[in-house]
Amino acid sequence: MSRDTSARKKTHSGMFRCKRCKQMVPNQAFGTKHRNHCPMCLWSLHVDHTPGDREHHCHALMEPVGIWVKDGGEWAVIHRCTQCGEFKANRIAGDDRDWALMQLAARALANPPVPIDEF
Ligand SMILES: [Zn+2]
Ligand SMILES: [Zn+2]
Repeated sequence: MSRDTSARKKTHSGMFRCKRCKQMVPNQAFGTKHRNHCPMCLWSLHVDHTPGDREHHCHALMEPVGIWVKDGGEWAVIHRCTQCGEFKANRIAGDDRDWALMQLAARALANPPVPIDEF
C-alpha cells in the first residue's frame, strides 16, 4: 500500500455531468468534502472504496434506496450499486434537493410491507 499524503488529486475541478439525470453538478458542495452523488436526483457512481479515494473499479450507477438517520439526526443516503449490488452510506450535501430527499424518505412509508390498517 502506498501512502500518498500529498495534495488531493485535482483532476475534475469544476463541474461534472450526472450520468443519470444529465444535469451539470458542481464538484464542491457545502457540508461535504467529497461530492459523491447528484444533488438533483441523488444517484451516485460506484467509484470509492472509502469516501473520496476514487479507487473502485466498478464505476456503475448507484441508486439511492433509502435514508439513514444517524445519531444526532444527521442524514445519510443509502446507495445500492446497480451492477455489483454493494450498499454504501453517503452523507447528504448542503445543496441536495430537499424534495428529492423527502421523496426518498417517504418511499418506505408509501410502500408499507403490511397494510396500513393493521397498525
Ligand atoms: Zn442526477
Ligand atoms: Zn458496484
